[in-house]
Amino acid sequence: MDEGGIGVLSRLQEEWDEDVNRALEVLLMDPATGATEPHACDTSCYECLCSFYNQFHHDHLDRTVAGEWVPATHGSIFTARAVTSDWVAVHAGPDGKPTCDSATEKSMVEAIMAKGIPVPMHARHP
Ligand SMILES: [Zn+2]
Repeated sequence: MDEGGIGVLSRLQEEWDEDVNRALEVLLMDPATGATEPHACDTSCYECLCSFYNQFHHDHLDRTVAGEWVPATHGSIFTARAVTSDWVAVHAGPDGKPTCDSATEKSMVEAIMAKGIPVPMHARHP
C-alpha cells in the first residue's frame, strides 16, 4: 500500500486489535470479556484517564463513554484499495451510483474537482 505517509495506516492495520486491547486496559476493562474490572472507578481516576496534564478536564472524563464502543472495534480492520484515476467516476461511482454519503461530501468532491486536484491513488474503505 502506498499511503504516502509515515506508515501509520500500515501500523494500524497490523496492530489494531493490540491497540484496542491496550485501550480497554486503560479503560479498566478486561480485553477478553469486555467486563469492567471490579476495582474500576465510576467515571475517571488517576488509574485510568486522569493525569496531571489533563487536570483541567477531569470533570469531563468518563471512561464508560469510550467503554461503550471500543470493544466493538475488535476486528474492525480497514483496507486500502485502488480506486479510479477519474474524479468524475469518484463523484458518480463506478456503477453510476453516487458514492458520496452526504451533501457536504458531494460539495467537497465537487470543489476538489473544480480545483483540478488529482485523485488519490488509494482510498480508505471500512
Ligand atoms: Zn478510573
